[in-house]
Amino acid sequence: MTRTYHNFLTHLECGLTGERHEARRIHGLSKAGKPLLARYDLEAIKSSTDRDAIWARDTGFWKWRELLPVEDTRNVCALGEVDTPLIGLNTLHSPGTVIVKDEGRLPTGSFKARGLALAVAMAKELGLDHLAMPTNGNAGSALSAYASRLGMQTTIVCPDDTPAINIEETELQGAKVYKANGLINACGAWVKAGADKGLWFDLSTLKEPYRIEGKKTMGLELAAQMGWTLPDVIFYPTGGGTGLIGMWKAFDELIKLGWLEKNDLPRMVAVQASGCAPIVRAYDAGVRFATPWEDAHTFAAGIRVPAAIGDFLILDAVRDSGGFAIAVDDAAIEAARKCIAQKEGLLLCPEGAATYAAYLAARENGQVSSGERAVLFNCATGLKYPMPEAGIALNLANPA
Ligand SMILES: *Cc1c(COP(=O)(O)O)cnc(C)c1O
Repeated sequence: MTRTYHNFLTHLECGLTGERHEARRIHGLSKAGKPLLARYDLEAIKSSTDRDAIWARDTGFWKWRELLPVEDTRNVCALGEVDTPLIGLNTLHSPGTVIVKDEGRLPTGSFKARGLALAVAMAKELGLDHLAMPTNGNAGSALSAYASRLGMQTTIVCPDDTPAINIEETELQGAKVYKANGLINACGAWVKAGADKGLWFDLSTLKEPYRIEGKKTMGLELAAQMGWTLPDVIFYPTGGGTGLIGMWKAFDELIKLGWLEKNDLPRMVAVQASGCAPIVRAYDAGVRFATPWEDAHTFAAGIRVPAAIGDFLILDAVRDSGGFAIAVDDAAIEAARKCIAQKEGLLLCPEGAATYAAYLAARENGQVSSGERAVLFNCATGLKYPMPEAGIALNLANPA
C-alpha cells in the first residue's frame, strides 16, 4: 500500500541564478554552488487547500504537508512537535508589543528540529542511509534524534570546544560524534571530503535543499498564530540564516496563496554577536556577499558562524523587507538574558537573548518604535546552556 500525500513540489531552483533542478533527485548545492530552493505548484495548492483546515490539524510543523516536499508518510518522523508559543514580554513592555516565539519547546530543545526533521525525511525518501554534518551544537542532536528514529546512520563532527551537553546528547541519541581540533569551517571541509569519497551524504546547513523548508514552517506558524497577519518587525539570531531565509520564503508563498489578511510584510532584522558579525559587516558595506569573519568568538555558539553559504539570501531578505542587520556584544546578551529571566520568567538561550539586546538597541537608536509589534526568536531552551554559579551556603547545624 502506498501512503502518499498529494504532493505539490514541482522543482528546485538555484537561489542565485534561478536555474531549474529536477525534483525527487538527490541534490546538494546548485550547479552554481549555491543553495537550492524548493518550488511548489502554488496555484494548485491555492485551489485545493484551505488554510484554516490546515491550521485546525494536530499541533506541530508536519501539519503544513501541502507546503512541504515529503511525499510518503512513512518518511515522516514525528517526535511530538508542537506549535511553539508566543509569549509577550508584558512586564517590561506594553502588552502584546514585544513577543517571544519560544522554539525551545520543540523536540531536542531547539528549532534545529524543524530543519533537520525535513532534511532527514527527504534523505530517507531519496534512499540515503548515512548522513554527516559539522555542528556547533543543536543541529547535531536534532539530526541524531530524527535519523536514529528512521533507522539511519549519522556521523557528526564538532569543534572540541562545543558545549559538552550538545556532544553528549548527540551521541546518546545514536550518532558517531567526533570532537575536532579546528573550527566549524574545518569540520565542514572534513565532512565534504568524506562525502566526496562516498562515505555519507553531506547535510551541512543549506548544502541540501530541505532544511529551509523545515525552518519555513516558523513563518507559516507565526502567520496563523497572529490571525493570518504578520508582525511589524522580526528579530532573528543569524548564524547560517536558514530560519530568516525560510521565513521570508514562507511569507512569499503565503502572499501568492492569498492566505494573509493583509500583505504587509515584517522588516527582517538579522541579529549577530559583535565577535562574529559577517552579515552585519556586509549589510553596512552595502554588499551582497559576506567575507568570512576572522577569529570568531561569542558565547552564543549558535550564531558563531564566520561564513554563511546563504549570505546573499539573508542580505536580500533583510534589504527587500526594509529591515537591517545589527550586532550586540556578549555583555549585552548576558544582561538581556538575566533581565528576561528575572522580569518575565523566561529562560532564553544566549542567541535568543541576543535578539532582545538587539531590540533594545534598535529602540534606543530609533530603528524600531514603541508602538510596533516585534517578534523575537528564542531558538533553544535556556536549560542547555551554562548558567552563572548560584546558591548561598547555609549551615543547618548553626543557622544564622
Ligand atoms: C542554529 C542556531 C541559530 C542560528 O540559526 P540559523 O537559522 O542557522 O541562522 C541560532 N540559535 C540557536 C540556538 C541555534 O541552535
